[in-house]
Amino acid sequence: MTAQSSTQAATRPVVREGAFGHATGLACRECGATQELGPHYVCSECFGPLEIVYDFPAVTREQIEAGPANIWRYKALLPVPDDIETSPNLEPGFTRLLRADNLAAELGLSRLWVKDDSTNPTNSFKDRVVACALSAARELGSKVFACPSTGNLANAVAAAGARAGIKTVVFIPSNLETPKKVNSAIYTENLVAVDGNYDDVNKLASEIAGEEDGWAFVNVNVRPFYAEGSKTLGYEIAEQLGWRLPDQIVIPVASGSQLTKVHKAFRELVKLGLVEDKPVKIYGAQATGCSPVSEAFRQGWDAIKPVRPDTIAKSLAIGNPADGIYVLDICRETGGAVADISDDEVRDAIVLLARTEGIFTETAGGTTVGVLKKLVESGVLDPELETVVINTGHGLKTLDAVTDLVGPAATIAPTYQAFVDADIV
Ligand SMILES: *Cc1c(COP(=O)(O)O)cnc(C)c1O
Ligand SMILES: [Zn+2]
Repeated sequence: MTAQSSTQAATRPVVREGAFGHATGLACRECGATQELGPHYVCSECFGPLEIVYDFPAVTREQIEAGPANIWRYKALLPVPDDIETSPNLEPGFTRLLRADNLAAELGLSRLWVKDDSTNPTNSFKDRVVACALSAARELGSKVFACPSTGNLANAVAAAGARAGIKTVVFIPSNLETPKKVNSAIYTENLVAVDGNYDDVNKLASEIAGEEDGWAFVNVNVRPFYAEGSKTLGYEIAEQLGWRLPDQIVIPVASGSQLTKVHKAFRELVKLGLVEDKPVKIYGAQATGCSPVSEAFRQGWDAIKPVRPDTIAKSLAIGNPADGIYVLDICRETGGAVADISDDEVRDAIVLLARTEGIFTETAGGTTVGVLKKLVESGVLDPELETVVINTGHGLKTLDAVTDLVGPAATIAPTYQAFVDADIV
């Protein structure tokens, strides 16, 4: 045994049998080269991104329906061990799919659903991906659970780490909204605010991941495991529709991971015979102040030109999105599109969703609902098709975005006459 391999054996604990469920390896999305399962995220041949590959067992609808009311009902399709439910975690997922008739009427759509992920444990869809990353970190024997974040991810990592009893360190851009800072700091002593934008924070995280041993950065070195968590959004939508796929779906795009994984989930369900095959148009939503994928779609480019983000939709503010090119492929292939709207349109859409459906979304959801509205108005999206829109986060985290738009209709004296005089209703 060489000196090097003996050190590796000493520092890297042996991974137990079944640690990653039915996952069999990592494959490069670009060249297909395969690697062993582990904390790897770039192809050693071509530096392309790595993705989990599986040897799925036969899974039935009944088996899934008999599972818990959280993402682990789909554990056979995720890179997690069969006993995942016995390890403390936040049990995210199985959020409501709400029929949105009022919003549909307002927009002129015949059938619309809102997948409301704002009700996850830390109020964004990030709890799904973090639960899968946490499992990987645990199985790999990581000592620190960490992330660079635009806000929601830091909340989810800090909370999940607290519950799992693993040390957390979360890095955010220093100009984040106060609620998002507090929602991380409440769970961890190690919130690090970095003077820079998300892309700077992400670069710093990659550097630390390369230098420090035993750190699991959820969206860097265990990203292939993390990303698979987004598939559960697709599985749930299909199951909640009665084991069917929608005709079209609108999804917000930051790194683009979620959109690509919802698409992957739909394809897997078809392959496993759990839903009937049919075309599903996939639409991506961005805010104009950070719209590199939408711009590439409009221009017909095959590459993404990175931008410097400047938008109130901070959870979507990734100027150099890792999965942007795959979003382009999917939206083009499925007959969808990627579009963007201004910050004012984002604000208006937050109010619109709240007033029509009683759902308070954050700026990312405002972006998604606003883009849906724009796509209908511009005739890009067929209003007769059954549509799903994903609300990925909660409005209480981005209160500032709408504080000037809504408020008391009047401030009055506590008398009936004052109420009448105010002429409110
Ligand atoms: C992170 C995030 C997204 C987008 O996620 P990607 O997978 O990086 O595209 C969307 N909405 C909210 C609220 C988020 O926090
Ligand atoms: Zn490769």
